[in-house]
Amino acid sequence: MVRTRFAPSPTGFLHIGGVRTALYSWAYARKNSGKFVLRIEDTDLERSTEESVQAILDGMHWVGLDYDEGPFYQTKRFDRYREVIQQLLQSGHAYYCYCTKEELEIMRAKAEVEGCATYDRRWRPETGKQLPEKPADIQPVVRFKMPTEGITEWRDLVKGDIAIANDTLDDLIIARADGSPTYNFCVVVDDWDMQITHVIRGDDHVNNTPKQINILKALNATIPQYAHLPMILNESGSKMSKRRDAVSVVDYDKQGILPDAMLNYLARLGWGHGDDEFFTMAQFIDWFDLKDVSPASGRFNQEKLLWLNAQHIKNTANDILIQRIVPRLIEKGIRQPESVDLHPVMALVKERVHDLNQLADECLYFYRQSIPTEAEIAKHWAEETPARMARFAEQLKNITEWNAENIHALFAPFCEAEGIKMGKLGMPLRLLVCGTSKTPSIDAVLALLGKEEVLRRMNNGLPQA
Ligand code: GLU
Repeated sequence: MVRTRFAPSPTGFLHIGGVRTALYSWAYARKNSGKFVLRIEDTDLERSTEESVQAILDGMHWVGLDYDEGPFYQTKRFDRYREVIQQLLQSGHAYYCYCTKEELEIMRAKAEVEGCATYDRRWRPETGKQLPEKPADIQPVVRFKMPTEGITEWRDLVKGDIAIANDTLDDLIIARADGSPTYNFCVVVDDWDMQITHVIRGDDHVNNTPKQINILKALNATIPQYAHLPMILNESGSKMSKRRDAVSVVDYDKQGILPDAMLNYLARLGWGHGDDEFFTMAQFIDWFDLKDVSPASGRFNQEKLLWLNAQHIKNTANDILIQRIVPRLIEKGIRQPESVDLHPVMALVKERVHDLNQLADECLYFYRQSIPTEAEIAKHWAEETPARMARFAEQLKNITEWNAENIHALFAPFCEAEGIKMGKLGMPLRLLVCGTSKTPSIDAVLALLGKEEVLRRMNNGLPQA
C-alpha cells in the first residue's frame, strides 16, 4: 500500500512551498488509495515552538488536506530512537566517537582544503586498527558507519537518477553526547516505522537522501522511493522570502484566497495535465502522477492565482462563500451579518470579484448606506441630481409588486421624460443607495434591498462625509 507523509519542522509558519509538498504527498496517497501521514519534526528543541505546531495544524485545516495518521511528534519518540541507536551499535553499524571540538575543527579545516569527507573516522573500529585511548572526561557521540567506497544511488521520481560517491559522506553523528538523536537519523527511523513507501519532499533534502538510504540499508529496512520537488520562486525568479513575499498560508487567507484556489494554483505550479488550469481537487487526484511533476522550479504568479480564485469563487456553493465572508463582514463593522439573507446576494455578486475581501465589500451595501468617494460624487452627482432622485423615488413608491422586472420597467420611460441617458439615472442612484457606482444591475440590487429600505435611503439623501 502506498504510504506518504508530510513532515514539517515547526520552526515558523506553514510555508506555501510546504503546502505544495503536502498537497502532492496527499494527492499521491489519495490517488493510490493509500495513507497520508502527518509528522511534526520537532527534534530541534531550540527552534521548534508550540505556536508553529499550531500554525501547521491550522494551515493544514485551512487548505483542507486531511491526514489519515498523526500528527506524530518526534519528541515523543525518543525512546524508540535510543533503541535503534543501540541496535546499530550492537550490529556494528555504529560506534562511539570521543573527538574533542578542537580535533574536529582541525579536521574540518583540512577537509575544506582537500575536499573530502570532514571526519577522518579515527574512532571507527576496523579490523586490525588500533583505536586511540578513550579520554575519561569526554562523553562520546555515536556515529554511523557510512560505506567508504562505491556510490549510493536512487531513481528520483522527479529528478531522475542521482548517484553520490560514498567517500564524500561523513560518518554521520546519530546521537549527540547527551544521547539525543539527530535529525537525519530520526527521519530514517520514522520513515521506517511508519512504513513510508514514497518520500515526497523539497529538494533541499537531496543531500540528506544518501545518508538516509545507507542507514535504512543497515537496518535492513525497505528503501522508500524518493521524489524531490524543486522550490517555488517568486515572480522575479529568486527564492521566496518572508520579508518580500507572501509565504505563509495565513497571508493568502488574509488576501481573500479560497483554499481550493490556493491548492489548484499550487498543484499547477510544477505539475501539469495538458492545458488544464482550473480544476477541482477530485480531478487533481484523478490526474496526478509524480512523473508529470516538473524538475524545474516554478515561479509564483499572483495574477494567475487571482484569476483562479475568481473561477473558484464562481464555482463555490453560496453557503460556503457565506461562511468564509461572515468573519470579514464582522471585521468591516457589520455586527449582525445574519440580518441579511446573503444567498441571493451571493448569486448576484460572486461573478464580479477576484477575492473574498472584494466579495465581502460587495455585500456591505446590503447592510448600510455608505458615503461615496469624492471622485465618484464629482463624476456622477450634479446639482439637479437630488431633485431627479426624489422624482424617481416617487415612481418607485408606486410599484406594488417589488421585483427587478418592475423596477427595470420604470427606467426607460423615466429617462425619456427627463431627457437623459440611463447612466444619468443609474449612476447617481447607485451612489445614493449603495455608496458606490460599482454594483451589479441596479434593478436587481434594489429588488433585493426591499422597497422600504430603498425608499428610506433615497429619502435620507446622499450621506455626507
Ligand atoms: N522536516 C523537513 C522540513 O521541514 C522535512 C523532512 C523530510 O520531508 O524528510 O524541511
